[in-house]
Amino acid sequence: MARDVRTSGGGPGRRDVRKLPKAHLHLHFTGSMRPATLLELADRDGVRLPDALTSDEPPKLRATDERGWFRFQRLYDAARSCLRTPDDIHRLVREAAQEDAADGSGWLEIQVDPTSYAPRLGGLIPTLELILDAVHTASRDTGVGMAVIVAANRMKHPLDARTLARLAVRYTDQGVVGFGLSNDERRGLARDFDRAFAIARDGGLLAAPHGGELAGPASVRDCLDDLHAQRVGHGVRAAEDPHLVRRLADTGVTCEVCPASNVALGVYDKPEDVPLRTLYDAGVPLALGADDPLLFGSRLAAQYEIARDVHAFTDAELAELARQSVRASRAPQEVRERLLEGIDAWAAEPPEG
Ligand SMILES: [Zn+2]
Repeated sequence: MARDVRTSGGGPGRRDVRKLPKAHLHLHFTGSMRPATLLELADRDGVRLPDALTSDEPPKLRATDERGWFRFQRLYDAARSCLRTPDDIHRLVREAAQEDAADGSGWLEIQVDPTSYAPRLGGLIPTLELILDAVHTASRDTGVGMAVIVAANRMKHPLDARTLARLAVRYTDQGVVGFGLSNDERRGLARDFDRAFAIARDGGLLAAPHGGELAGPASVRDCLDDLHAQRVGHGVRAAEDPHLVRRLADTGVTCEVCPASNVALGVYDKPEDVPLRTLYDAGVPLALGADDPLLFGSRLAAQYEIARDVHAFTDAELAELARQSVRASRAPQEVRERLLEGIDAWAAEPPEG
């Protein structure tokens, strides 16, 4: 399967977005896998993958209805079932870092619910420690700064989320920087997870739940009011409510916008329907992300290409998007400064051609 969309890079009158330093704040663990790696691991284990994971085209998913979301989750589960050994985890993280490095990312926050990997890897704590070890090794080898966001699953009991939050807090000095909440926003209430988020925030973690993807503006408001979100995973549907847009802009809450994912999952029909302009022009800080490149077929730099090609972002605006991603990150001060300087240098250079 050769479906990773490669960006066109620079060209006459335009700078290469792969050389634009940026931070990547919305990337899921299994979803970051290279398609070729998935095929290789499945072959090794004799796993028969669903056709949608082996074809050259990214699967067509209509996750806006529950059946479509369920199908997306089944594909994700099938891919995850191929990650079986500590070496697999190291390989996945190393390749994610390599892909990010090639796309100009200088800081990657990878999101994971360790619960789903724990049965094969010796339990929750060994799994998280293995992931953190892989992150440190990959970061050292690739030069991409990396950290982990531990994400709870809103399809599970809120008590499980609290257990995860307590676990995450124990590893704040070893690379865990945030706490998330993922899966179907239409299920359950954000406030069922308020205690878990309170534990995470009190422990110094950034609150970054998903909202405003499958559900409308109310789900983003719930993230702000009930979970005190400092970043929102997706958040794009906030654009349907001007008051909420103003609130996000005024409070500086960053939306982790994943344009290719939104179209692949049917949140919007076409790339031009993703309200990137609405949010950006209103002053909502944005951090573009790839979400699940394994399933959606494009990585980080491709999201900036969409902003340029579909939404007419100028190079100066792309540079500002990159700055917003860095500012919203939990990267250490020296990394932020280095990336921001690199962004200024990118924007100051004459375009190619
Ligand atoms: Zn996501």
